[in-house]
Amino acid sequence: MPIGGQKQPPVVRELASAVLDGVELSAEWNRQFETRVIEDYDSSPLFELAALTEAESIEWCYGCGRCVPVCPVDVVGEYGPRKVHRKLQTGINLLDDPDLWLCTTCGNCLRVCPKQVDMIKIMPAAREAAMAQGKEVPAELQGVFESTFKYGNALGQSPRKRPAWTKGAGVPVRDLTKEPGRVEYLLYVEDYWAYHPRGNDAAQAFARIMHRLGIDYGILGHEEKTLGDSQRLAGEKGLFEMLMEQVVETLDRFEFGAIVTPDPHGFNALAKIYPKYGHEFNVLHYTQLLAPRIGELEFTTPLDMRVTFHDPCYLGRHNGEYDAPRQILEALPGLELVEMMRCRENGYCCGGGGGGMWLDGHTVNHTSERLSERRVREAAETGANVLAVCCPYEVSRFEDGVKSTGLDGQLKVRDLAELVDQALGGPGAVS
Ligand code: SF4
Ligand code: SF4
Repeated sequence: MPIGGQKQPPVVRELASAVLDGVELSAEWNRQFETRVIEDYDSSPLFELAALTEAESIEWCYGCGRCVPVCPVDVVGEYGPRKVHRKLQTGINLLDDPDLWLCTTCGNCLRVCPKQVDMIKIMPAAREAAMAQGKEVPAELQGVFESTFKYGNALGQSPRKRPAWTKGAGVPVRDLTKEPGRVEYLLYVEDYWAYHPRGNDAAQAFARIMHRLGIDYGILGHEEKTLGDSQRLAGEKGLFEMLMEQVVETLDRFEFGAIVTPDPHGFNALAKIYPKYGHEFNVLHYTQLLAPRIGELEFTTPLDMRVTFHDPCYLGRHNGEYDAPRQILEALPGLELVEMMRCRENGYCCGGGGGGMWLDGHTVNHTSERLSERRVREAAETGANVLAVCCPYEVSRFEDGVKSTGLDGQLKVRDLAELVDQALGGPGAVS
């Protein structure tokens, strides 16, 4: 009797023939075999994606699953490198799938992947290809691309307003477009410290600290433009390259020893991406400037706080800096530092990287909660009453998360600069 009267698993035909040597395969078996082969093993989307520049490592996945528990999106949804690979293998085109916009390029999967499947390269390449093919881009992200192109910042604000935050600092801040001349440090303020009200608080606190330390520094005022690293990772490499040329042309007109920036994304651009295009700058994250000099400050106000610290992905995992922020926190009087379970190399992403800052409206439809909401719950579980951050994206993201999770009144979010300023007797967070 021929076998194959009922549905067969998609075994390889040659193997079946060899094992069943001499046994007649039914017409139904053959029909189902052809169908299943097409349904289960049409892997052309995988090969097409792997053919994109810098995306070849998507093919190297062998399904070990190590990325599953560490992917922050998988913690709150159904997404991760292994799942992306499996979908591609089974004929689902990532360029048409909502998964395309879920990765925050946090880098935690790459840290554990034995095959070095690199989502930080794969996702931007896939997004760039999707845009080139005219696929739909989430409206919020499209708006940010347009604002960045028009105004040089993601928030669509006038360049003239960029230095407005300095008025509330209470100390002089040198605008190099008005007072030219060499400075030791160029403060590259970036968008969220310059324009967001809670970013303004941190920028003003930082200005007071710089003043107290007597550091010679200045800003580019209305001539600064975003460094655009998150736009690059969201798929707009062309926009990033255009910005980079403009930024380099501007920087060439000013004299400074090193660049200091509060933004880990901007820091990543200057430290790792600009050099690939031949533009080398000496750059520090603001915590790296403050940490070695924290002992010079005379603190007057004990903080009486239990604080937990959130590692920004683009400062920690991407650039290896975990200690500078902690050195600053540990130097503050009356502050007890407690760690979250996921911290340092395994820090949980706030959801803002890789364009995620502007994709909450998309992500919320594919996850059970926002990554920022998950993170503030983890912070509250430590018993901390303050979540300290050192990335300009995070204060607003986490403050929204605190409100939407009902943790208002239990957990405050503070930039490190605000905490240092407060310990110096300054106002800290003003808004
Ligand atoms: S860790 Fe790497 S090889 Fe393993 S399933 Fe994830 S992407 Fe694939
Ligand atoms: S980079 Fe982060 S968000 Fe993206 S797939 Fe890897 S672990 Fe998940």
